[in-house]
Amino acid sequence: MALELGNEQERPQPLRVRTYGDPVLRRKAPPVDEITQAVRDLAARMIVTMYENEIRGVGLAAPQVGVSLRLITLATHDPDEPIPPNASPGERMLSPRMPIALINPEIVKASSAMEEAVEGCLSIPEVQGGVCRPASVVVKALTLGGQTIQAECGGLLGRCLQHEIDHLDGILFVDRWREVDSMAHGTQLRAIEKKAIRSASGGRRS
Ligand code: ZN
Repeated sequence: MALELGNEQERPQPLRVRTYGDPVLRRKAPPVDEITQAVRDLAARMIVTMYENEIRGVGLAAPQVGVSLRLITLATHDPDEPIPPNASPGERMLSPRMPIALINPEIVKASSAMEEAVEGCLSIPEVQGGVCRPASVVVKALTLGGQTIQAECGGLLGRCLQHEIDHLDGILFVDRWREVDSMAHGTQLRAIEKKAIRSASGGRRS
């Protein structure tokens, strides 16, 4: 799969994914005010991180790699695969360009129709749960090339965008899941949290 990896000569290196309990995940991230080479390099490293993680991610937000900025990367579609005929306009527009980075993404409009699906998060390893979200959202964002895009996004892309934009506001999917999941995974979450706190205070991660 072709990756657009910016102008770096060297292959971009993956970044450490911050886990539940790390305070950066709870911060509201400020917008990117200029698309500099540093922003492009960060996006390239986030894409590599997404692909090289033990569980391949379909989306990643900059706070998850410790950078509080409104930047996300997405890979909800393999561009070698055909786009399904029922794909939303946003999927039609963005899927062929994946993996893609979006800057300052915002939800302009959300459908009143809701949909529940199981979500997971690279920052909350081995935990999954059902989350109810609008079935489709109109998202506005900038591409790395500085192009403004706006489109109605449904399917996995619409869900992933909502999950990643939540990260930029310090919200995690476990804040939105069903009571039953929260009860089932409480102990697991507390264990991940303890580990992250230990790691932040200089302790070694196992
Ligand atoms: Zn996540």
